Amino acid sequence: MKLEVDRVTKRYGATTALDGLSLSLTSARVLVLIGPSGGGKSTLLRLLGGLETADAGTVQVNEHRLVANAAELQNYRRQNGFLFQQFNLFPHLSARRNITLPLEKVHGHPPAKAHELAEQALDRFGLLKHADKLPSQLSGGQQQRVGIARAVAFSPEILFLDEPTSALDPEMTAEVLELIQELAEAGQDIILSTHEMGFARAVADQVAFIAAGKIEECRPPAGLFDSP
Ligand code: ADP
Ligand code: ADP
Repeated sequence: MKLEVDRVTKRYGATTALDGLSLSLTSARVLVLIGPSGGGKSTLLRLLGGLETADAGTVQVNEHRLVANAAELQNYRRQNGFLFQQFNLFPHLSARRNITLPLEKVHGHPPAKAHELAEQALDRFGLLKHADKLPSQLSGGQQQRVGIARAVAFSPEILFLDEPTSALDPEMTAEVLELIQELAEAGQDIILSTHEMGFARAVADQVAFIAAGKIEECRPPAGLFDSP
């Protein structure tokens, strides 16, 4: 993927979440946003995913210039996949239905096609045997796998993951790590936020350090230490 973020500012009331942030990347498969809580990681992720727009500055992702045009942004969002902490599985629906529903309602696939794409995604992530279970019958790691399966079921241009492992224990984190690595090897572009340096080092090919609404540094992960 290619990113060109130029002097972007984003405010929420009196809070400046992004403060003239710039970031330029000509090629990256997995971009990790890392930094202290409140530094602006989620805000930048939402801007890059077209879920929000900047107050000032410009954002370009691949050939998409993300301007405040509701129809264009919606179209752009629909080309991407999202797994957000606060945007989890529907608790009253099976794993399979959690995947088929957005394929039908958001992406407009007929039920048969949605079913076919869901079966492929469930199979790919080793979830077929859990397809009829409710989220509450799955482990945290399995729920994240269903969430990622849902996000990649329609082959998104970019997969956005906001703190995908923050609620998981080390074993489940390792499971999600492996899954992300497999996706990257299969050519999936990914942008994810985390505050775990070890995780960043393991998955990233570019790591952007964000604090106080600015990029402090953007570089490949080689030689990163566990504590910033
Ligand atoms: P991070 O992901 O690095 O923890 P965020 O992007 O979530 O940082 O937040 C950056 C700043 O913007 C914080 O001060 C946060 O409280 C504020 N902020 C983020 N989103 C909102 C929002 N929807 N409404 C109000 N303040 C927000
Ligand atoms: P809306 O119709 O509410 O504008 P869209 O249909 O454009 O939303 O949504 C497109 C994609 O963006 C969907 O895959 C949806 O899951 C995702 N999405 C929309 N809003 C959010 C959000 N606040 N957090 C996470 N993902 C979102």
